[in-house]
Amino acid sequence: MAAKVTVIGSINMDLIAEAERFPRKGETLLGGDFHTIPGGKGANQAVAAAKLGAEVTMVGCVGDDTFGQPLIAHLKEQGIFNVNVEPVTHFPTGVAQITVAEQDNTIIVVPGANNQVTPEVVRQNEKAIQESDILLLQFEIPLESVEEAVNLANKHNTTVVLNPAPMQSVSLGLLEKVDFLTPNEHELTELLDTEEKKQFYEQHRGKFFVTQGSNGVQFVEGDQETLVPSYKVEVKDTTGAGDTFNGGFSVALAEGKSFSEACRFGNAAAALSVSQFGAQTGMPNREDVLRLLD
Ligand code: ATP
Repeated sequence: MAAKVTVIGSINMDLIAEAERFPRKGETLLGGDFHTIPGGKGANQAVAAAKLGAEVTMVGCVGDDTFGQPLIAHLKEQGIFNVNVEPVTHFPTGVAQITVAEQDNTIIVVPGANNQVTPEVVRQNEKAIQESDILLLQFEIPLESVEEAVNLANKHNTTVVLNPAPMQSVSLGLLEKVDFLTPNEHELTELLDTEEKKQFYEQHRGKFFVTQGSNGVQFVEGDQETLVPSYKVEVKDTTGAGDTFNGGFSVALAEGKSFSEACRFGNAAAALSVSQFGAQTGMPNREDVLRLLD
């Protein structure tokens, strides 16, 4: 039976304009190519987990507008088993306005309907949380909804993986209630913004799986600090590497694999994703990952 993963998180349309350079303040610039691509950390991680073989429930909100229905249809096409996403009126679908220029990018994320993923919406999905092996969360929906989801998961003994991105200042209580955190190195520093949280980190290092880009991922088991190295690939586009890692790591944990095996599985999936263009478009399927792990 497939592992069950519920993702409660953001669903965005990424609007990507390519230009030779960034516009100056007040300037209008003619661009090059334009792309409209499904994104949002929640949706990205849900798609990654579905492609990697899990039975995924995606909970989120889109707007009742041009982007809403196509994004719902897209999630279904990507093999998401249960799409609990209804368009909400009066709020636009979340968008990320991305400018790509000078081998870099600037991004403005407008959460829109993602802010309507309220604690009430979370409670409506209690059954999915209860029936899942893993609840996978990020920080692109309101923090109170993340907290509600974690409380329900704790109530039903569902394991929680929290990818703390983009960083929001969180209570120590929340850190105590989640089972695994998957910050990158930068997010880890931001997460530990009080002495209390730094102390908590020292005492609970086993909860933290710190992704380190091309180096891989580091975790602590007992007294042992382990770096699970990434796979060497020809890098085309690192967008969505973290999301693919989180999807893969969660699927492997849900299947009962050990921490180091789950990290290897996540690393292999993420490495394959950086060797392709796009976030969701570059995500590998399970067979590709198993071949790399062989
Ligand atoms: P992003 O925000 O770009 O999606 P992130 O900053 O959240 O990613 P990273 O630590 O950069 O997360 O990368 C996540 C994982 O992706 C790493 O642990 C590693 O497994 C894989 N990865 C990232 N970059 C590379 C690379 N250049 N080569 C191989 N694997 C990579």
